[in-house]
Amino acid sequence: MNKILINLCVAGAGMALVASCQGTANNETVMTTQPESITDYANYPTYDGEDLGLVIDGIVYKFKLWSPMADSVAVNIYENGLGGAAVSRHEMLADKTRGTWSADLKGDLMGKFYTFQVMIDGNWLDETPGVWAKAVGVNGERAAIIDLKTTDPEGWELDKGPVLEHNTDAVLYEMHHRDFSIHENSGITNKGKFVAMVENGTLSSNGESTGIDHLKELGVTHVHILPSYDYNSVDETQLASNKYNWGYDPINYNVPEGSYSTNPACPQTRIREMKMMIQALHNAGIGVVMDVVYNHTGITQGSNFELTAPGYYYRQREDGSFSDASGCGNETASDRTQMRNFMINSIKYWMNEYHIDGFRFDLMAIHDIETMNAIAEVANAINPNVIIYGEGWTASDSPLPVERRALKEHVNKMPGIAVFSDDIRDAVKGHYSNVEDPGFASGKPGNEETVKFGIVGATAHPQIDFAKCNNSKFGYANQPVQVVNYVSCHDDPCLTDKLKKSMPGTTEDERIAVAKLAQTIVFTSQGIPFMFAGEEVYRTKKGVHNSYNSPDSINAIDWGRKSRYRDLFDYYRGLINMRKLHPAFRMTTAEEVAKNIVFDEVDTDNLISYSIKNNANGDSWNEIKVILNGAAKANEVVVPAGDWKIIVKDGKISETGLGMCDGGKLTVAPRTALILAKEK
Ligand code: CA
Repeated sequence: MNKILINLCVAGAGMALVASCQGTANNETVMTTQPESITDYANYPTYDGEDLGLVIDGIVYKFKLWSPMADSVAVNIYENGLGGAAVSRHEMLADKTRGTWSADLKGDLMGKFYTFQVMIDGNWLDETPGVWAKAVGVNGERAAIIDLKTTDPEGWELDKGPVLEHNTDAVLYEMHHRDFSIHENSGITNKGKFVAMVENGTLSSNGESTGIDHLKELGVTHVHILPSYDYNSVDETQLASNKYNWGYDPINYNVPEGSYSTNPACPQTRIREMKMMIQALHNAGIGVVMDVVYNHTGITQGSNFELTAPGYYYRQREDGSFSDASGCGNETASDRTQMRNFMINSIKYWMNEYHIDGFRFDLMAIHDIETMNAIAEVANAINPNVIIYGEGWTASDSPLPVERRALKEHVNKMPGIAVFSDDIRDAVKGHYSNVEDPGFASGKPGNEETVKFGIVGATAHPQIDFAKCNNSKFGYANQPVQVVNYVSCHDDPCLTDKLKKSMPGTTEDERIAVAKLAQTIVFTSQGIPFMFAGEEVYRTKKGVHNSYNSPDSINAIDWGRKSRYRDLFDYYRGLINMRKLHPAFRMTTAEEVAKNIVFDEVDTDNLISYSIKNNANGDSWNEIKVILNGAAKANEVVVPAGDWKIIVKDGKISETGLGMCDGGKLTVAPRTALILAKEK
């Protein structure tokens, strides 16, 4: 039986309720079981339609909320995004077979705001914009009624992200909007905003390019933006207080964050400005990957999930308490159909409405393999160039059985997905949280086999003794495209700070040499390379590791460093350029990697030597010799005689050659790479 529709409209704004009887018409044909109790989540009716929240159809405003256990649901209409009493309130009509509630309202609602309110066991819960708000007022408390078309910047219909032949062609650059532009030295007007990226020709006080010009100069293919949906921790009504947060505390998953807009109180502005940012990057040939945090919410009680369908969206322990694999107080339940539907439809929405080119899944192993594969399938159908990767681990234990988790070790069951290689990360620079621990590049022996594991893109290679690897004891990637190689990201100390802490008694020049060596390993390894914004100007977070809410003085990138560390910047730029010009570093199959990469017998600590042979992957270079010396002393290697062009030596790089050599016994300077190439 459907609920009786009661029109409680008190507003005289010419609003009228339109009968909404979709559910009734289908009651005979849709068979579902009904849950026996509120915790009988497996038997909740589900709904995969994409019209949850609000759909505007001409003059009819169609509100819909999924909440199978509600006694009643109402939608409230407000004049403003914050404050003031509701101008009208309308009870909604239930469709028990789908678990949805609908109200179709007629009238001039454009520009107004709305909330839903759910009654459970006779009690009205707090109001919520629901989980499908696509526009919100300030701080995301109320959903906004706007025509999304009015948020499109000029030319948006022609906007398109870059096309890569293979995802191994990508160069990922992980960036926080505020870090990137907030420093006084950025030369950018709209500091800390989405539209910082729209400004061309910006310069540091030393005359170095900043902003989007800096990205073009560096040569990255994709900007990976830290959480950019509406999050909780920055009060959007108090922007002058300059609060900072990474943003891993989602509120409204399908709306941009207000504090990155120039006017959070205007619902259209944040949407339009985020689109402008994406368009500017696309026009520069740069794709946009968004960090998505579907695995947990910032708050549990009072979250939009809880205010919509209490208990359903989160996993529970046997005693009924919320489980916490995220370490943030809760974990979502992608293994429940409606949470899975939510994630899939949210990804589709960001791709279709915002032209997002890829997604980075936070704590991806909280999600189940089936959900991640479904997401990859849907996303690839929209854009075959989509890049999907994630953290293949959880922060703590989960009720989700290990075999179902989207773990790094299970990536071979997720063909369209890549995982971060913490293997190469920790092997190259040392343990991520034990800050004093050095790694291969900073002189600690014993990491050689794990670095080699990284070089072959975590695939099965006949010359690697996986038993000797520090972390994973098998090559988990079916193909190199399933692994993201990196040495640092927003988490933990940045590379500059890590090297300072783990290499006591060294000079800055010595540590810069190690930074160059570390990134040389990343950019010459098979797989997808990833770097943390600002590492190219030797960025420091002043020793702060978990800088998620540290002030700008810690997190801002000081662009004055670009001239000071210009040599390092040019080296990174050279690495990216070399990688882009040479497909040998971007092989697409494990078979090619196994055939073309040949490691040399080396019996010296912190020394690795290998060749990439056979004009690998159609490369113009017939053979590339890569020698990595992480030792604090020079080491000798013997290279077969030939006409070798010197590409990297003594901390310098030139794709066209620094000079020539005939091979033989060669000396590799301390903490440097030597890369040689021959045409035939
Ligand atoms: Ca917010």
